[in-house]
Amino acid sequence: MQELVRKNIQQLKPYSSARDEYKGRQASVFLDANESPYGAPLNRYPDPLQEELKHLLATVKQVPAGNIFLGNGSDEAIDLVYRIFCEPRIDNVVAIDPTYGMYEVCADINDVEYRKVALDEHFQLKAADVLAECDAHTKVIFLCSPNNPTGNDLDRNEVLKILQSFKGITVVDEAYSDFSSQRPLRLELANYPRMIVLNTFSKAYGSAAIRLGMAFADAEIIGLFNKVKYPYNVNQLTQQRAIELLQNDMLKIHQRINLILEERTTMMQSFARLPICEKVYPSDANFFLARVSDANKIYDYLVDCGIIVRNRSHIHLCGNCLRITIGTKEENTQLLSALIEYGRRGL
Ligand SMILES: *Cc1c(COP(=O)(O)O)cnc(C)c1O
Repeated sequence: MQELVRKNIQQLKPYSSARDEYKGRQASVFLDANESPYGAPLNRYPDPLQEELKHLLATVKQVPAGNIFLGNGSDEAIDLVYRIFCEPRIDNVVAIDPTYGMYEVCADINDVEYRKVALDEHFQLKAADVLAECDAHTKVIFLCSPNNPTGNDLDRNEVLKILQSFKGITVVDEAYSDFSSQRPLRLELANYPRMIVLNTFSKAYGSAAIRLGMAFADAEIIGLFNKVKYPYNVNQLTQQRAIELLQNDMLKIHQRINLILEERTTMMQSFARLPICEKVYPSDANFFLARVSDANKIYDYLVDCGIIVRNRSHIHLCGNCLRITIGTKEENTQLLSALIEYGRRGL
């Protein structure tokens, strides 16, 4: 593992915050952090390692607390992967194409070469193709399953081949795994010491606004994340809200996931019957990709109707494709009605 880590990170002496140093909770007078004594409870710096929240997550996610990193969205974890493992202008990463755009944006920000391996016409990968793009300077492979924007689970056997043969870090982004029937790879952490699995509160947990992302990995990797992150990267309001959600709302969240899955089935069937629809791609997520007659024109028409979908038509393999999130029954009906009207007017 040490060989994969950048020299400056290996040698880094991390910032030690006031709250890091006192540890434990027996004290009652806090004159160590230059906080105001007024304005409780938000006058105090939050727990830098979010212990209470991780303890609850350990049960819900079935991952030991010591294997969890929490960040300001998954985007923070993605950025930290580059900052920990990738030497700018020397190392590179390999990712499937198309996939989530932040992997490439973070590569560009960190001045790290980003290599793309095209998926096939079913949006599937071949482990051999991905591994063939790797060389001695490939530190990270990014996989996303279910994949965004295509919506499908990646072939598990191919993913496992990569996990077994790649000597660097494999990131598996499972932001949408709550909507998939595949067994989440986060439950296999113990078998893959160089795997990092990403999850988020932004999708199935209905909490995109609180900005909370998770990374699950070997304790050594979690230690590196903790060393490099900003000391108080997850604010107190976010920690509090997430704790309440995990304590009180998990039943409701699972019911909502089921509602979205039912609605996904009917929505994809109805969409496929629209005259403008050329193909609906299979989905294991809370959205689906559809090829339509003229994506740009339909996108603009929908904007005029006050309905926003994601135009993915400029993305590799996604010509004339729109990505459509499953909304409430009412929202989905509005989209379908607008598209029926579009056809009726002969636009
Ligand atoms: C939406 C999404 C995320 C979530 O990112 P956050 O920063 O946690 O909101 C992560 N990965 C993928 C593939 C996504 O589509």
